[in-house]
Amino acid sequence: METDTVTQAADSKPEKYADDIYEEAANWHVNTGDEKIHAKRVTGRWRRLKWITEAVWLIFFIGPYLRWNGRQAVLFDIPNRQFHIFDITVLPQDVWMLALVLLFFAMLLAAVTSIAGRVYCGFFCFQTAWTDLFTWLEEKIEGPPAKRRKLEEGPWTGEKIRKLGLKWFIWLLISILTGISFVAWFTDAYQLWHDLFTGQASGVAYFVIGLFTVGTLTLAGKLREQACFWLCPYARIQGVMYDKETILPTYDFNRGEPRGRLKKGKVPEGQGDCIDCKQCVAVCPTGIDIRMGQQEGCITCALCIDACDAVMEKIGKPKGLIRYASLDEMEGKHQLPLHRRPRPLIYLAILILSVAGIIYGLTHLGTIELKVLHDRAPLFVQLSDGSVQNKYRIKILNKTDQDFHVKLTAEGIPGLELKGADKPLLARKGNDTSYTVYIKVPGEAIKSERTPIIFKAKGIENPEQEAVYESMFFGPK
Ligand code: SF4
Ligand code: SF4
Repeated sequence: METDTVTQAADSKPEKYADDIYEEAANWHVNTGDEKIHAKRVTGRWRRLKWITEAVWLIFFIGPYLRWNGRQAVLFDIPNRQFHIFDITVLPQDVWMLALVLLFFAMLLAAVTSIAGRVYCGFFCFQTAWTDLFTWLEEKIEGPPAKRRKLEEGPWTGEKIRKLGLKWFIWLLISILTGISFVAWFTDAYQLWHDLFTGQASGVAYFVIGLFTVGTLTLAGKLREQACFWLCPYARIQGVMYDKETILPTYDFNRGEPRGRLKKGKVPEGQGDCIDCKQCVAVCPTGIDIRMGQQEGCITCALCIDACDAVMEKIGKPKGLIRYASLDEMEGKHQLPLHRRPRPLIYLAILILSVAGIIYGLTHLGTIELKVLHDRAPLFVQLSDGSVQNKYRIKILNKTDQDFHVKLTAEGIPGLELKGADKPLLARKGNDTSYTVYIKVPGEAIKSERTPIIFKAKGIENPEQEAVYESMFFGPK
């Protein structure tokens, strides 16, 4: 125990400091999930980090306006079933890569959770980021938590209408912008703004924007972190990803207990370092008391660390009464290094495999695919000159965003003649283009009922574009 001696608070007026924080502490209690949380905003290194990580979401707003080679750099063009990511065009045929991308993010989440808990929730999640922005605005307009609560519970006055009206109006603008930004990833962003203002946008666009507007207002404005507490499925499954070496914001029970209040600005002898000021509860966006141990509601945002560090600084105690620590560390056990912990290593191995698969896929996407479907009714036709003819449906898939032409050839039987592909065939950009062709073979060249033949499509403009397909030629017994 570090508090064998009485410690003088570092504040110049420690009694005043104690009075202030205990008066404020009277307003805080642990969240039981049935009320709106008005968390106190805190400053500190974790708070600064939170702003930086949440700023990642600026890409969501700015991304659709980036151009690349004359078009939107990233465009999920659903009507034309093409995904453009800079120079890469992904068609539905390559959607297997999406499974790998999802696996990558699932494993990334699992690996990060097993190492450092719900850091995604606390620092990156859209629900956290939007709620943080909404509550920051709320504080700017309505003031600190005590004033906000008073305003909320008070009668409808002119001031209340003005403040709430302004707040909801700004929230509404952000929510509409969120909806528009989402839709802008799926259509030309500049054209979308034009169409929205001239009333020419599609009904789907207006519907999705409306849905996002209502959703953002509800989740970030009304439910806030209660959505993390009660709605998010991730909160329910995170426990299986933790182990005793997972580092989480943790209250150092051994150092903090027995907790007790400051007496005349001093920590009395024999008392733990926790002065029961409840600042850690006051700043918690989910309204929980970290001193009661790990809880489902903790989104690992580390704001309680900032709050407690500030208190420790004030009372002249070392920081870190609440800190990122594992259960093993708290129990004084040896902490295994990361590379010897099986759980993160397994997640990492799957992560590497999925990245390798994605890289392989992206580097082997190709630009052309050929499919040949044999017409089965009839299987073959015997012509008057004794030759035999088969009919085929050719499908050329052009995976680029430019039209090109291909030369189609066939081989595999002596004297084989390909009809219907004398001229170069047009392959339309980002699409399948179908043609009907015939293979005619002299009767004497047919040695069996089924003979393999090879179709080859070669680019005219770019001879490196090549696709091959093995099919079958059918003749009489
Ligand atoms: S843990 Fe820190 S912030 Fe929380 S009540 Fe104790 S001293 Fe105050
Ligand atoms: S207990 Fe601490 S880390 Fe957990 S949600 Fe509350 S403030 Fe964030």
